[in-house]
Amino acid sequence: LADSRIEENKVKELNQLRISYNKMLERLADAFEIQRQFTANAAHELRTPLSVMQVQLDLYHSTPHPGNDADTLQTLKMVTEQNGRLSKMVKTLLDMSELQTVSRDETIAVDALVDEVLVDLEPLAQEKEIKLIGNCKDTTMVGSDILIYRMVYNLVENAIKYNHFGGQVTVTAYRSGKNICLSVEDTGSGIPAELKERIFEPFFRVDKSRSRQLGGVGLGLALVREIVRVHDGRITVQSSPSGGTIFEVVFTQ
Ligand code: ADP
Repeated sequence: LADSRIEENKVKELNQLRISYNKMLERLADAFEIQRQFTANAAHELRTPLSVMQVQLDLYHSTPHPGNDADTLQTLKMVTEQNGRLSKMVKTLLDMSELQTVSRDETIAVDALVDEVLVDLEPLAQEKEIKLIGNCKDTTMVGSDILIYRMVYNLVENAIKYNHFGGQVTVTAYRSGKNICLSVEDTGSGIPAELKERIFEPFFRVDKSRSRQLGGVGLGLALVREIVRVHDGRITVQSSPSGGTIFEVVFTQ
């Protein structure tokens, strides 16, 4: 009798634990939802004044102003650049907050998508005489076409941005059993081992001034990580201090 009472108490305790655990998960989900809503609302609100400013600046730049001195022109150039950076940041924040609502049931030809990214980024690569190489097998996966494009685009854009003049970027994609493996390899500056996890944090940059000079806002990899997460994938990075970085993404379907 004593044994069965102990058993009963254990079951009660376990049930109590399960209820508390579920409540905690619900609260966490609510907190995430509130944060997501806040980010989305803030980004929406910021977008309008920023685009009004951009239109005004474009209008100003499209007409000649012969009376302006060098200082004024320099100030206007800076304001335009910073406005562009802010707009980029706000757009990425908005994209991040809307990830969950995007449909992820499209059949994607990964090889064709990679080719598209490489064509779109060819002009950027040419600026530094970087060779872009696509090495993709005929591979399909199910997901969001627009998000997977964005993921590959951000990885290849970084591989170009943080590469040396005359370097190389290789994108590989293939299926191995249930795994779809995609990797982006560059011959660039590499990432210090102790910072390999931190680069996925929003606004984290190994070298802030270099990133800023290259037009970065520190949200590219945070978005990549979220895109991988909503597709139930994994992302890893290997880099050697002597240079060269490989980002590898695996989706299991
Ligand atoms: P950013 O807008 O600064 O490029 P990201 O979130 O895309 O922001 O990347 C975060 C940081 O990770 C970058 O500032 C850079 O320091 C580092 N990084 C990303 N990709 C690479 C790469 N391929 N090689 C070297 N460093 C990289």
